[in-house]
Amino acid sequence: MSTYSLAIHGGAGTIRRSEMTDAQEQGHRTALEQALCAGERVLASGGSATAAVEAAVVSLEDCEYFNAGRGAVFTHDGRHEMDASIMCGATLNAGAVAMVEGVKNPVALSRLVMERSAHVFLCGAGAQDFARDMDVPFEGPDYFFSAFRYQQLEKARAQNRVQLDHSDKFGTVGAVALDLQGNLAAATSTGGLTNKRYGRVGDSSVIGAGTYANNGTCAVSCTGYGEYFLRSVVAYDVSCMMEYKGLSLQEATDRIINHKQVAIGGDGGLIAVDRNGSIALPFNSTGMYRGWVQKGSEARVAIYKNDR
Ligand code: ASP
Repeated sequence: MSTYSLAIHGGAGTIRRSEMTDAQEQGHRTALEQALCAGERVLASGGSATAAVEAAVVSLEDCEYFNAGRGAVFTHDGRHEMDASIMCGATLNAGAVAMVEGVKNPVALSRLVMERSAHVFLCGAGAQDFARDMDVPFEGPDYFFSAFRYQQLEKARAQNRVQLDHSDKFGTVGAVALDLQGNLAAATSTGGLTNKRYGRVGDSSVIGAGTYANNGTCAVSCTGYGEYFLRSVVAYDVSCMMEYKGLSLQEATDRIINHKQVAIGGDGGLIAVDRNGSIALPFNSTGMYRGWVQKGSEARVAIYKNDR
């Protein structure tokens, strides 16, 4: 395989040009470009798709504009509980963490679960213990605090509802990649929904729902209202449509996001890449922060519909 491809997202939702200042829009575009650059650097130097998606997602987690890592939304009781996952399409190995607090880069922890534990999915206190054993960096509440996020929480609490973060123009993050060796990988990271309670976990850390990669088909990372993506096992469904029905990546992702998800009210989108390096970025919401690059062509970022 002599090509590589990388796509990233920073969340899909109600993202309207009319509600963005120029500075906000530019800030998001720059952050997406930086994440693409971080991932492409790995791919261009012959690194693995797994390392590339981790690097791109770490870059997005470190940016407070997005609902993952720094910038994660608040739970009902004012904390940050983060979920992340990663999957390697060559081996079908996967790692995931849910409800972790204080971990600077949950996606890096999910990779350690994949590569350094005997398990796939760790959550809560156990995931924290594993993180300490692995010596991953932790940050205090100040690092994760943002006044904007806190206002979102107060508003959601006052209205007694949980809120999909990107209805306020920020979102979950993810990356998918094909490397020069022909291997695929996917990763997703999120703070979940504003005002979530009771240990709620969405699709982002669930292998098959929010994240999936298989060298035989594709790599997928989802964003949107997690409950709907969980019910439909969206990421695996894309792979199944390709494997069992013989659909192309474009056909499979369009059918799922613009038909099956729409039919059940599942607001959101996904990014996907297939084993030939084709990229699909469908969403059924008003916008999705996204970026993509292929070997030999310029990196592109987009936010709104028809924004290419
Ligand atoms: N899918 C995420 C969740 O439900 C939210 C998002 O994509 O922003 O936790």
